[in-house]
Amino acid sequence: ETKSRAKGSLTVFEDEMDARYIERQKLQQDLREAVARNELSVAYQPMFLPDGSRIECCEALARWTHAEHGPVSPTVFIQIAEEIGIVSEITRRVIERACIDCARWPEHMGVSVNLSVHDLRNSEIVGVITDALVRSDLKPSRLHLEVTESCLMEETANVPAVLQELRARGITIAIDDFGTGYSSLSYLDALPLDVIKIDRSFVRNIGESSRRFKLLRGTVNLSRELGLRIVVEGVETREQLELINKYNCADLVQGYVFAAPMSTAAIMDLTETLARKAAVHA
Ligand code: C2E
Ligand code: MG
Ligand code: MG
Ligand code: MG
Repeated sequence: ETKSRAKGSLTVFEDEMDARYIERQKLQQDLREAVARNELSVAYQPMFLPDGSRIECCEALARWTHAEHGPVSPTVFIQIAEEIGIVSEITRRVIERACIDCARWPEHMGVSVNLSVHDLRNSEIVGVITDALVRSDLKPSRLHLEVTESCLMEETANVPAVLQELRARGITIAIDDFGTGYSSLSYLDALPLDVIKIDRSFVRNIGESSRRFKLLRGTVNLSRELGLRIVVEGVETREQLELINKYNCADLVQGYVFAAPMSTAAIMDLTETLARKAAVHA
């Protein structure tokens, strides 16, 4: 401590920069190795009918547990993967895993995989997906792909074409985190979409007469007009759920109020529990 105080503040700053740089380099290298060794796993978060009675689809979420740091958030490691050019490798592995796992779930359930902008830059992804579907013997309509608005900001005319091609094969396309970032309603027109996932920021702190809730309802009405299926993300409380249902704002609900991400085994257990309950009530 005395040592650092003795140094000029700029030097201390530079040391910190060096330390952070080295840390980042290390994390990049560790991620590279983890991906190469296929050490990343996939957790699944269910999307429920609004009454919670049934799971329609599960979102595949990549997981990485670092030997020293423990679990690293995908928002962190996906960005690193993008920087070092290995995100498509992660995407491929997540898609392969997700298709195999989904093929063991009940027929009516789909699986939803997040794509990065890099995945849509060329049409390689089409082959990756086709292979994964064939090998797992999964019906294309059971595979959903989530793209974000930031993906679509890219000035590559290629993006809608790749999505169009995937959709033509029967795959379901969703726009993720809708309403955040550089949202533009024109995406809803330009893209071949089936599903809109409304971002959790539209759910946080909603009250019946809040402006946020009006924005949510407006977006829902617009989406219904366009024939889109509506998923409301990040529903955490009973109160939020009740409000969403009172105004019929969701076709599907995803959030901690129903379930957090879990293993495929836990998904199958939960599915069985729900089916048993449904049978009792029938
Ligand atoms: P996302 O696609 O919007 O996924 C939803 C995120 O919200 C997940 O975080 C999920 O755990 C979290 N979440 C779910 N319910 C709630 C809730 O009720 N409240 C709150 N506060 N959060 C909730 P996670 O797993 O940390 O993933 C973060 C983001 O990382 C994802 O956001 C997605 O953009 C990205 N990501 C995750 N896996 C992949 C992947 O395999 N590929 C790519 N390209 N991106 C991924
Ligand atoms: Mg998503
Ligand atoms: Mg989302
Ligand atoms: Mg998100």
